[in-house]
Amino acid sequence: MALGTGMTENLAAEVAVIGGGPAGLIAAVALKSAGVDVLLIAPEREADHRTTALLAGSVTALSTLGVWETCRQQAAPLAAIRIIDDTRRLLRAPEVHFNAAEIGLDAFGYNIENRRLVAALAAHAERLKIVRRTDMALAIASDPGGVTIKFTDGAARVRLVVGADGARSLCRKAAGIGSERRAYPQVALTLNLEHARPHAETSTEFHTESGPFTLVPLPGLRSSLVCVLDSARAAAFAAMTDADLSAEIERRAHSLFGKMRVEPGRGVFPLAIETAHTFARARIALIGEAAHVVPPIGAQGLNLGLRDAAALAELVADTRRQNADIGAPALLARYDAERRADIVSRRIAVDLLNRSLLSDFLPVQGMRGLSLYLIDRIGPLRRALMREGVMPAASQPRLTRGEMV
Ligand SMILES: Cc1cc2nc3c(=O)[nH]c(=O)nc-3n(C[C@H](O)[C@H](O)[C@H](O)COP(=O)(O)OP(=O)(O)OC[C@H]3O[C@@H](n4cnc5c(N)ncnc54)[C@H](O)[C@@H]3O)c2cc1C
Repeated sequence: MALGTGMTENLAAEVAVIGGGPAGLIAAVALKSAGVDVLLIAPEREADHRTTALLAGSVTALSTLGVWETCRQQAAPLAAIRIIDDTRRLLRAPEVHFNAAEIGLDAFGYNIENRRLVAALAAHAERLKIVRRTDMALAIASDPGGVTIKFTDGAARVRLVVGADGARSLCRKAAGIGSERRAYPQVALTLNLEHARPHAETSTEFHTESGPFTLVPLPGLRSSLVCVLDSARAAAFAAMTDADLSAEIERRAHSLFGKMRVEPGRGVFPLAIETAHTFARARIALIGEAAHVVPPIGAQGLNLGLRDAAALAELVADTRRQNADIGAPALLARYDAERRADIVSRRIAVDLLNRSLLSDFLPVQGMRGLSLYLIDRIGPLRRALMREGVMPAASQPRLTRGEMV
């Protein structure tokens, strides 16, 4: 296959996307929609009962790719966000409400179960006739002309690898990219539940001394819960019967939603923050959790991963139109530069918020309370924060603006 670089070689595809999580599937769909020849290496996934709050720019991107119409009926709009200080500390913050209507939107975004999002993306990849292998990539080796991926039964050669293989990324290792990782003394307990009273399309976040306890709307009288706890308490929660856990969650939610009933499928995720030292090297570009892991506070993780996929697909499509090499160092350096500010600023914000909740230091509590008070009182500041939340100034790839790659 000739690729406009003067190189002729027998390639399996121009690009291989390694990893069939949501980030990898979005990248594969975006690249193929731009006419790029893609090989998707995506083993079947284990059951994932988590949900993802997709912010407005991410929903626009999925809509532009033609995936959102399948997801829309299965997702709940997030028209408002309410933050309640549920700490028993001396300095507490006021309750703060953010309404999407204040910035001219119907919703900040939509919450959808991961299994439904992944199924919609996989079905779309199939419609686009993306070639998919369901075995693991065992080894990856780059050289100046391309990348060779080894499987148990042979190998595939491509010009560029998109490393979407999650937090323990083989692609990152193969590219020789290190990372900075810090574990938090917390875990996230996740589950979905039914409740008696409507959520009114409002995501409710209780800030507690051990971290946020967040109920995010699902369609109907259902919500998903992300409860951040210390590991001892999480183990106690995980061991409870459904009836006891339902009662405990209702108590923690101050019965705002009436009687609750947890659904089968609990998840426990140790929290950590991790960022790759660089996001691309040696014909391998990292996206999603292979590039960055942030704790589930403020719904940032996959929204960042989607912007990685959109930005990379855009660069590859543009480079290809110029008949240049899509794995060249210049493209990889541009990708790294384009993603850095977005990723680093979100990491700092999530880290600061989490630390301010955990800290018993009175001045830190005071600062957190004062910040929320100012956000509550000063309209332009609140609106600027909301806009930055759904559409970050540092990164607006074409797909998130409703334009095709
Ligand atoms: C409790 C919790 C709640 C969250 N809520 C939100 C939210 O509301 N909003 C939000 O934006 N984000 C949220 N996140 C973050 C979000 O879930 C992650 O960012 C996202 O799942 C990462 O997707 P990914 O595709 O990068 O990685 P993964 O989902 O980890 O997928 C990686 C895939 O690569 C595959 N793989 C690994 N190695 C290989 C190999 N060698 N060959 C082939 N395949 C391989 C794996 O099998 C896996 O399927 C949350 C996270 C947690 C823990």
